[in-house]
Amino acid sequence: MKMITSVSQMQSISKELKSSGKKIGFVPTMGYLHEGHLTLVTQSVKECDVTVMSIFVNPLQFGPNEDFDQYPRDIDRDFALAKSAGADLLFYPSVKELYPEELPVKMTALKRTNVLCGAKRPGHFDGVVSVLTLLFHIVQPDRAYFGQKDAQQVAVVKGLVEGYFFPVQIVTVETVREEDGLAKSSRNVYLTDKERNEAPVLYQSLIKGKEMLGTKTADQVISLMASNIQENTSGKIDYIEILSYPELLPINNKTGQFIIALAVQFEHARLIDNVVFTPEEEELCIVQ
Ligand code: AMP
Repeated sequence: MKMITSVSQMQSISKELKSSGKKIGFVPTMGYLHEGHLTLVTQSVKECDVTVMSIFVNPLQFGPNEDFDQYPRDIDRDFALAKSAGADLLFYPSVKELYPEELPVKMTALKRTNVLCGAKRPGHFDGVVSVLTLLFHIVQPDRAYFGQKDAQQVAVVKGLVEGYFFPVQIVTVETVREEDGLAKSSRNVYLTDKERNEAPVLYQSLIKGKEMLGTKTADQVISLMASNIQENTSGKIDYIEILSYPELLPINNKTGQFIIALAVQFEHARLIDNVVFTPEEEELCIVQ
C-alpha cells in the first residue's frame, strides 16, 4: 500500500487508473481506524479494482466548541490497519494541502440537514459536502463507501451526488458493533470505564424503540427511550428522533423506511447511533 500526501500526485494516479479502465473504490475517513472503517475497505476491495482510503480530519465539519483538536489520531497504526484490510492507496493530505487558502466557493447543505446532527451541529454538513466534493474530484471514484452509522451523512451525501450529477455510486455499509451492541466509533476511546459499561444501552434502547413502534406512538416511544437512557447512563441526551429515511421528514405516512436516531453526550465523547428499517405489515400502526 502506498501513502500519498500530495493532491497533484493523487490526481495523476487517479487519472492514470481511470484511463486504463480501472474501477476505483473510495473510503473517506477521519482515521483512528477500527473495524467499521475496515469493513468499508473490505467491501470496496471485493467490488472494485483499486481501493483508495483517505484519512483527513476535516476542520470545516467541526464547530468552534467541538473536538477537532482532541479528535484521536495515529497515522502509523492507521497505515498498518488500512494495509492489512487490503487498501491499495492511502490518501493522507495535510489541512494546508487540501485547503491552501479559504475555499473560494461556500457550499451549504440545504436538504435533510434541519434535523438530527444537522440541527445540533450548525455547519457540520456544509463542511462534509465541501470536503467530499474536493475528495471526489481528486480521487474520481466509481464507488464511495459510507457507514450506516452516520445515516444522516449518507442521506446528505446522496443528495449531493444526485443533485450535482457526480459520477459516483454511494454504497452504504451496515454498522459494525462491539459484541455488546455498542457501535464502533473512533470516539469510543474517550469513554471512561463506567461510561463504556453504560454505552450499550443506546443500541438496546433503539432496538426496544423499533419494537415499540408497532404498539405506541412515535412520541411515546421517544419518551420511553429517553427514560431508559436517562435511568441507565450518565450521558446527556442530545436528541432522539423518529423520521422517514432517507428524506428525514416527519413520519406522516406509514410506508417506506424509517429511522430512529439518537445522540448522547458523555463527558468527553458524543455518541450517535441509529436503526433504519421498513416496518412489517402488522406494525403499520405508526402514528404521530
Ligand atoms: P469517520 O472516520 O468517523 O468519519 O468514518 C468514516 C466512515 O466510516 C464513515 O462512512 C462512517 O459512517 C464509517 N463508519 C464509522 N463507524 C462505523 C461503524 N461502526 N460501522 C460501519 N461504518 C462505520
